Amino acid sequence: MNIKTEIVKINPLAIDLDAIARAGQLLKKGGLVAFPTETVYGLGADATNPQASQKIYQAKGRPSDNPLIVHIANRAALDGIVANIPPQADLLAEKFWPGPLTMIFQKNESIPYETTGGMDTVAVRMPSDPIALALIEASNGYIAAPSANTSGRPSPTRTEHVVQDLDGKIDMIVDGGAVGIGLESTIVDLTEEIPVILRPGYITLEMLQEVLGEVRMDPGLIEADSLQKPKAPGMKYRHYAPKADLKVVEGPLSAVTKEINNRCEILIKQGKQVGIIATEETKAQYEYGTVICIGARDDEDAIARHLYGSLREFDELGVDAIFSESFASAGIGQAVMNRLLKAAGHQVLEVKDVE
Ligand code: AMP
Ligand code: MG
Repeated sequence: MNIKTEIVKINPLAIDLDAIARAGQLLKKGGLVAFPTETVYGLGADATNPQASQKIYQAKGRPSDNPLIVHIANRAALDGIVANIPPQADLLAEKFWPGPLTMIFQKNESIPYETTGGMDTVAVRMPSDPIALALIEASNGYIAAPSANTSGRPSPTRTEHVVQDLDGKIDMIVDGGAVGIGLESTIVDLTEEIPVILRPGYITLEMLQEVLGEVRMDPGLIEADSLQKPKAPGMKYRHYAPKADLKVVEGPLSAVTKEINNRCEILIKQGKQVGIIATEETKAQYEYGTVICIGARDDEDAIARHLYGSLREFDELGVDAIFSESFASAGIGQAVMNRLLKAAGHQVLEVKDVE
């Protein structure tokens, strides 16, 4: 089925409220609208409408047991969709909403199982992007929105990425330019006695611990080959992956660049095309292939913002293999490495000092 996808450009500093009202109407009628948030672009539908939620799964090719995050525009809206609000939720909302934090609650009957992938819990977030907030207010106040990509592909951080995956499958794309953060929200489950991080993001474990005291990481996140099944259903699927074979090379930088040069030389002699995810510090040292500089090594925010776009660029170029340097795992670096390792299917090459 091919439908006409309208693209509407909106300036976040001077929001065209007529255009937003039209997008809100489409959502109220059960349509699909992609829109920017501060994390990645989302694919929105009315979260209270089971048929509308189902359309998201069809458009993305998303497995039906992978639940959606419900986006709200004010704290009062939370009361309308959850069965109870633990005290930790208000502490976190006070500190991090609007912002890149998703919390999991017991749902009430206003949210259909089509939205939660059959679960009795619901994930809720209040985004800080002004276009996202205006759109939620112009809808019925509850927008179910996973990332606006084809399932399994890197999440979209610009409108052109949404067009690549969803043109002809959704009603409208609200184009608000490039997103600020570039990785999906942190997800914390508040239905457990001790809150659990199900997906790392811009809001780190340490930031949550500062507000709540004890918080833990889902064991399924820590070890690649853990027997623990991740609790966020989405985390068990192949995710964020480029089309090419991606390997992460880890070790002292001089050894990393040498290893990547050696491997690229061999592949290129075999007639393969290669891509390299490099940094300001190393980009000049690569002798083969297409080099994309993702940012300076000490600028984790830039690395986060450019990761998915870099993977998509290599998809467009049609390379056969990609090598990426490894990055520091402090702060948002933890989320960067979580996504990068998943994209690489946990293929890591450990290298030692050259001397
Ligand atoms: P996306 O926005 O595409 O990253 O998808 C939303 C993510 O939130 C998925 O990985 C889901 O697994 C996770 N999620 C949504 N609702 C729940 C829930 N009720 N319990 C656990 N994880 C959830
Ligand atoms: Mg996603």
